[in-house]
Parts: sequence; C-alpha cells; structure tokens
Amino acid sequence: MWSEAWRRARKPHRCIACHETITPGDLYWAFSGLWDGSWSSGKQCARCQAIFEFLRSNTRDPVDLALDCGEIWEGDPAAHDMALWTRGDAQAWAQEQRAA
Ligand SMILES: [Zn+2]
Repeated sequence: MWSEAWRRARKPHRCIACHETITPGDLYWAFSGLWDGSWSSGKQCARCQAIFEFLRSNTRDPVDLALDCGEIWEGDPAAHDMALWTRGDAQAWAQEQRAA
C-alpha cells in the first residue's frame, strides 16, 4: 500500500529533502506506505517534488525520495533552473499539478 498526494499545509512541516520549512498555506507532497518492506512517510516541499519528478522522468535509475543520494545531477540545464526556483515558482507549479 502506498499513498501520495498534494496537500495544503495547515501547520508548518519540514521538507525531508531540503529541510526547509513548509509554511502554512503552501502546497506540499505527502506520501506514506510500505517501501522495501518498511513503513515510510514524509513530506516534501513543492520545489523538491518538482526536482524529484524531473529526475524520475529523466533517469532510469531509481531516485531517492530524499534526493540525498550524494550524486550531483549534471548535464540538463532544466534541472539546474529548477534548483533556482523560488518558493512562488514552486507553488505555481504545484497548483498546476494538483489541478491536473
Ligand atoms: Zn524541499
């Protein structure tokens, strides 16, 4: 079992990938379920989720949900641009994803 969805924060949360605070009112990505035999759950800010989705669609290797595999993503300028996203950019993107 696995569930994941966009949620809107009602209280502050901490992003598991960048450890920045997800502030109330922001959209964030929440997931929970069994992963490799153990229970796992977490919350990711919209920007980290955008980067995660980008990596997942652009690499054949499994992508660590926490984005902390220690590898430096090189090559695609889109990934670099994404890392420079502001909170507002990420929220606009998340809003689109949520509506889709
Ligand atoms: Zn984050």
